[in-house]
Amino acid sequence: MESSLVKENPLLLPLNQEKTIYDGFITVQERDFRMRIHLPPDHQLKQAKLHCCWQLKHLLRGYECIVKQRLQHSADLVSFILELKTVLEVALKSHPECRSMPPPQYYSQLISEMEALGWDKLLFIDTEFRTLRLKADDSSGRQHVLTVQLKSKHPAEPPECSADLPIPLAITWTPQSTLEQLHSQFLLVLESLADFWAVLDEIDRETWILEPEKPSRADTMRRIAIGNNVSIKVEVDPRHPKMLPECCLLGAEHVVTPLRSKLNANMHSWNPDSSVLHNLRDVLEIEFPSPATHEKSSFSVECGICYSYRLEAAIPDQVCNDPRCGQPFHQACLYEWLRALPSSRQSFSIVFGECPYCSKPITVKMAAQKS
Ligand SMILES: [Zn+2]
Ligand SMILES: [Zn+2]
Repeated sequence: MESSLVKENPLLLPLNQEKTIYDGFITVQERDFRMRIHLPPDHQLKQAKLHCCWQLKHLLRGYECIVKQRLQHSADLVSFILELKTVLEVALKSHPECRSMPPPQYYSQLISEMEALGWDKLLFIDTEFRTLRLKADDSSGRQHVLTVQLKSKHPAEPPECSADLPIPLAITWTPQSTLEQLHSQFLLVLESLADFWAVLDEIDRETWILEPEKPSRADTMRRIAIGNNVSIKVEVDPRHPKMLPECCLLGAEHVVTPLRSKLNANMHSWNPDSSVLHNLRDVLEIEFPSPATHEKSSFSVECGICYSYRLEAAIPDQVCNDPRCGQPFHQACLYEWLRALPSSRQSFSIVFGECPYCSKPITVKMAAQKS
């Protein structure tokens, strides 16, 4: 029996002549767990006692009964070890964090790196000491968060980093790199985006933003209210934030058409040294309603079909073109409404029908995708 045990599991060896104590490692999914088995003098497995390292104990928590039962029913030590391996494989799957538990020097390394960086930068650390959230303030006082997921072979293996940014976060990492260097690299990335955020902060501060509802630092799009049911959607390029952004005017045709002509006629006078908001004002020859001059409720008119403003994430951006009506609808609501009417007709993805409010002709494109 002992010889086959050695063959099956070369890391588990008898410690005494009586062969009642086995010590060594059990290997599961390329991880070694220290364990020791004490057998009674008659070598009866039923009476055997298992001593596990703390990782193994942690892993087997909740599986004690199964292990005990396997000990009772296994014919010999070899088959018990094989059973135990199966149990451990299952247990590892439900404890993904145990799969690659870091060695002790991981923690001392982490502590010395945090000491160099400054503990005041640490916003959060998880119970496994693997995920850190680090605070970073840019030179304009905006607060940012860098999420760092350390690998068990840190710092030999580069950590996974993420942040609320409009561009992919590219980090250079060598096995000699530290969290302090990582943090400095992040600060440089933040500085490179300072102009982009300055442009958007000004727009957010001085206009009414209809979309996104709560812009994040990664959002490059803003839909700015111009007037009742008229808005402009701008897409600011994070790498060239002061250039003319991609613009899309939304609203009833009779209001949008003159604005579109002004945009086309004046876009050559776009001045990259001035802010995007000032340029937009000059090019469109308008004043944007701002929180100082208007209530937001004057722009967030509900959909004329479902009577709500937000439908999932969408706002009512389909507007009746009749100047006396101008009723806004959600695209999905209007599409469903018109499709249900026998008087409507459909050509490809466009439905032609009548405005539910003023009965003037109205068209709507099929809603892109409904979740
Ligand atoms: Zn609706
Ligand atoms: Zn209408």
